Amino acid sequence: MGQDVFVVVEYLRREVSDISYVMLAAARQLAQGCGGNVVAVLLGQNAKELTGSLSADRVLYCDHPSLADFNPDAYRAVIMNLVKEQSPRAVLFGHTTIGTDVAGLISEGLSLPLVSSCLTLGADGKFISQICGGKIMVEGELPAPSALITVVPGGYKSEEGKASKPPEVTALAAPALENLRLALKKYIEPDAGDVDISKASLLIAVGRGIQNKDNLDLVNELAAATGGTVCASRPVVDQGWLPTTRLVGKSGKRVKPKIYLALGISGAPEHVEAIGESDVIIAVNTDLNAPIFNVAKFGTTLDLLEVVPQLTEKVRQIQAS
Ligand SMILES: Cc1cc2nc3c(=O)[nH]c(=O)nc-3n(C[C@H](O)[C@H](O)[C@H](O)COP(=O)(O)OP(=O)(O)OC[C@H]3O[C@@H](n4cnc5c(N)ncnc54)[C@H](O)[C@@H]3O)c2cc1C
Repeated sequence: MGQDVFVVVEYLRREVSDISYVMLAAARQLAQGCGGNVVAVLLGQNAKELTGSLSADRVLYCDHPSLADFNPDAYRAVIMNLVKEQSPRAVLFGHTTIGTDVAGLISEGLSLPLVSSCLTLGADGKFISQICGGKIMVEGELPAPSALITVVPGGYKSEEGKASKPPEVTALAAPALENLRLALKKYIEPDAGDVDISKASLLIAVGRGIQNKDNLDLVNELAAATGGTVCASRPVVDQGWLPTTRLVGKSGKRVKPKIYLALGISGAPEHVEAIGESDVIIAVNTDLNAPIFNVAKFGTTLDLLEVVPQLTEKVRQIQAS
């Protein structure tokens, strides 16, 4: 029997995050090569029902009051113990706020190498990573015997990591979790503001490619014609062209519309991690190598300033006919 591949499952508000399924799909590739099992690691309190949808050979579930909410100290203690005992081939974390937080702590604590922003993993132990905000792809070989990996969305579909039948679940004993240095005080919800973009079914998202505030008029016209809601990437919000309530991404909101139309957005990991649950992503970006095309179902490399008015006109024509 070879070494196992561990996946640290992420969830929020009792819902498994998409990135967890993406990681399980990636882990399957690697496990096939090293002859081990895919082992999902779930930490929480009264959260066992979350294991049912995980496509893993088995789940190690650690139940403890200190794990009721995410706590990097507690996660560090549990996962370090586990990795020391079982020496997995790799431990996968989401390249998310939670995942990068914990992966860094474990890497430091156990002096293990950390491969960041991994897009795909092969059975041969090769990986492809997206660095510099997704602008550069790096190919490498996973360090042996054990490595930590943070995974970005885009390399696998989340469906590939979902189980058709619930996996076997084994209880994982928690180490001493007293005297933690950190405690969650409260969740600070982003202000819902004028519209709640997380509830919109058609999102028209603008990025730096819009170039200036005046060009937003074109996008507002498209939104008015289609009934869509305008949202944005961080540079647009940082410039003050749209309020923070419209920000999509790591520092903004997660969204799950039926259609996500990304206009002039490059597809940096901090943006893409929040749009993975969209039914269809359509990208308009003049750079064919922009990473947004890795997650988009449809796309064009035409200039958005030409595409948007034509699209608005077409919608109006259809509505008038
Ligand atoms: C801790 C942290 C948190 C972050 N949180 C967030 C977050 O919540 N949300 C977020 O979005 N970012 C966030 N970021 C920033 C993120 O890393 C990227 O910098 C940002 O997403 C890039 O925004 P963009 O795609 O609009 O701009 P760029 O990366 O500059 O991309 C602009 C794109 O527009 C294209 N383009 C230019 N002109 C045209 C045209 N005329 N027609 C069509 N395409 C065109 C270009 O080819 C380019 O790909 C965060 C970063 C950090 C470090």
